[in-house]
Amino acid sequence: MLTDTIACDVLIVGGGPAGLSAASHLGDEIHSIVVHQDAEIGLPVRTSGGTWQRDMRALGIPENLYQVIDQLDFFSDHAEARFAVKDDKMAVMDVTGVYQHLASLSDDKRRELMTGAKFLGCVEQEDGQFLSEIRSRERGTFSILSRMVIDASGWQSAVLESLGLGQKPERTGVGIEYEFPRGEFAQNRAVLFVGATALTGYGWIFPTANNRLRLGVGVINPDTDLTPRQVMDAFQDGGYATRYGIEIPEDYEVNAGIIPSVAYDPELVFGNVVRTGDAANFASPTVGEGIRMAIAFGRVLGQEVTAHLDGDAKALKRYETAAKREFQRDYTFGFMMNQRIAGYTPQRWDKSVRRLARLSEREMTALVRSRFGWQTILRTVWLSLKAKITG
Ligand SMILES: Cc1cc2nc3c(=O)[nH]c(=O)nc-3n(C[C@H](O)[C@H](O)[C@H](O)COP(=O)(O)OP(=O)(O)OC[C@H]3O[C@@H](n4cnc5c(N)ncnc54)[C@H](O)[C@@H]3O)c2cc1C
Repeated sequence: MLTDTIACDVLIVGGGPAGLSAASHLGDEIHSIVVHQDAEIGLPVRTSGGTWQRDMRALGIPENLYQVIDQLDFFSDHAEARFAVKDDKMAVMDVTGVYQHLASLSDDKRRELMTGAKFLGCVEQEDGQFLSEIRSRERGTFSILSRMVIDASGWQSAVLESLGLGQKPERTGVGIEYEFPRGEFAQNRAVLFVGATALTGYGWIFPTANNRLRLGVGVINPDTDLTPRQVMDAFQDGGYATRYGIEIPEDYEVNAGIIPSVAYDPELVFGNVVRTGDAANFASPTVGEGIRMAIAFGRVLGQEVTAHLDGDAKALKRYETAAKREFQRDYTFGFMMNQRIAGYTPQRWDKSVRRLARLSEREMTALVRSRFGWQTILRTVWLSLKAKITG
């Protein structure tokens, strides 16, 4: 063992919602270390924080940390679908506030949170433990010896990649967001837009609880060579901001992030290495919403890791099975849709938004939440088969 080595039970790589939630649900006796490469939790912001009020309540997120949305509007170039949502309301998180809240939930545990600390790689030892190399602003390079490693490093899949158990996703959603004061835009209204204004991706306008507005666009690489910055420039040059009732000031904050956009793979457990959150591709394939899934399943993982370390041989399998039950059917179908819609023309988007306008509020939210009943799946498969047969 190297001299500068710290030992713990569980090393968690990544202090995003998944890693922080796993840490908060470990048993009190378990010593964990979270290494997080950024200098602060929740900063810089790499996500737009769209979610649902009922999930925030169920996850116990304080109400002052999200803005509830009553009006959800969809736009394509020549069509629109507006919903005054009554039951299942969307919400927009104060991302930094929520992540810091999630971190505080493990403050009373045997958890060390190391910010500005990057996981560089990991080797399995003969005794089955893992020796990980960490580079930290504070301590330089040192090692952590742990019984288990949780990969919560998001799209980077840093642990799996280092151990040769997986790779960074080949296809990713890349997004950029401008954040600025909300101005006249209603505090309880959100907009999603597609078509020529968002080119090959989609865009969003989200108001936050602290009177800011987030205007973002995302594209899928390598489906397109365009960068989100180019799409944003085209959006500004085309004067589309006025259509949505916003004014982009000269000065704004820029948030940017990456999310996996690959087929769902249910394998999450590799001996004593487990993946979760974006490293496990838990974000929805339709709109790339992954924070509530990262929190919910990070918590399940924390509990099952505790049971596993306590000798319950089936605990990690339970985590894997629970995730599979939650995601596999909807995400397999959703990913099929994702690949299809990534190639939509603006005309095709107009048709889809017109169809969306005819849906009930429940049907619309199910679609945005990537929830598909068997009826929807079978109808879509039937229609695409029919289109193939009839040419
Ligand atoms: C542009 C964009 C918009 C999005 N919008 C939404 C939205 O509206 N709603 C929603 O729910 N989801 C959204 N998502 C998805 C959401 O952000 C993710 O699903 C969620 O953040 C996943 O959480 P996580 O903890 O698994 O990963 P992350 O949030 O990515 O956290 C992982 C952390 O690990 C750190 N890390 C990585 N490698 C290392 C390493 N080697 N050593 C140490 N630390 C490391 C990273 O710095 C990162 O902070 C969006 C994503 C993007 C990119």
